[in-house]
Amino acid sequence: MMESRLQRKYEDHLECLVCERRCKIREGMRGACGNYANINGSLYHVGYGKLSYIESRPIEIKPLFHYWPNSTALTYSNYGCNFYCPWCQNHEISFRWPPEVPEVKPSYLIDLAKRRGDHGISASLNEPATNFDFVLEASKLAKDSGLYSMVVTNGYFTLEALRELLNAGTDGYSIDIKGCPEMAERKILPHVNHDIIFRNAREVIEEGGHVEVVYLVVTGANDFESCFNWIVDKHLSLGPDVPLHINRYFPANRWREPETDLKKLLNFRERAMREGINFVYVGNVWDPDLESTFCPKCGKLLIRRRMCRVTHFSLIQEGGKWRCPRCGAEIPMRGKFIQQRGPLSLGSPKPPYRGASSGR
Ligand code: SF4
Ligand SMILES: [Zn+2]
Repeated sequence: MMESRLQRKYEDHLECLVCERRCKIREGMRGACGNYANINGSLYHVGYGKLSYIESRPIEIKPLFHYWPNSTALTYSNYGCNFYCPWCQNHEISFRWPPEVPEVKPSYLIDLAKRRGDHGISASLNEPATNFDFVLEASKLAKDSGLYSMVVTNGYFTLEALRELLNAGTDGYSIDIKGCPEMAERKILPHVNHDIIFRNAREVIEEGGHVEVVYLVVTGANDFESCFNWIVDKHLSLGPDVPLHINRYFPANRWREPETDLKKLLNFRERAMREGINFVYVGNVWDPDLESTFCPKCGKLLIRRRMCRVTHFSLIQEGGKWRCPRCGAEIPMRGKFIQQRGPLSLGSPKPPYRGASSGR
């Protein structure tokens, strides 16, 4: 347990400044995620070091397709969430407040990542904002050790928290967009301000970080036309080179609508590309053609992926930039390409785990 870095004190309560829920927490109470508590008038990260999973996973599963391709990240998660999406595939950990489990130290993760030959660390599976002080410490240690640090997030950090995370060296952000403002009228995630997610994505980009946006198309929740149009418009404001992952949903938790229609996913992909987004992928359908990177200028196949691994990579590096070998177009890509090291010890990712809305 550690005192929270981001809190504001009022006469009769504390405000948690980690995420934009900005919970007002009275003495003896916890915020919505269950990880921050008001104890004797100070805010403590009571979930600090209480981890639910630690395992090496490919970066492509996050998904980040333009960041350290073919690398593996030591992936860790805690308990709790600030959104509680009814379709969450990882509800066993995200709908649960931190239990009494032995505390893991950030330095343990870094040592383990190095021993396993991972290239970075990843806070994922449940929402990293709920584990903010721990993620921050782990990120600093990762940077000092030459490892990258990335998060799979719903993008709801306060700007203060986000800037701290960026300064600590977390430069990879797989950001879930849960939908659009119209969903509130349908009483779906009415507590979420979707504009904030794009505000934060923009902030990361302006501060030099890497962003890929993930749109899990959930049947009956965010799969309607005007919602798609809103997301594409907002996405284009980030720039045409920010990758967009349009992912298939599978029934989970309390959401029992059928899985996303493949025709709808393909239609959304085609239209997003027509609108000007250069890198659009379709996930959770396990079709390498829909997970491959093509040059937006000449159409050449640049990177082919299969089951979250790179099977073909033909970008060339010139003056620190990655380029198409045929036409020379610059392709946004951060980090090094990691040559295949042989089979991964974790085995192939299988559905439905990979389709998790907040857990990769
Ligand atoms: S991190 Fe948790 S306690 Fe803090 S504002 Fe967000 S949901 Fe509330
Ligand atoms: Zn080209």
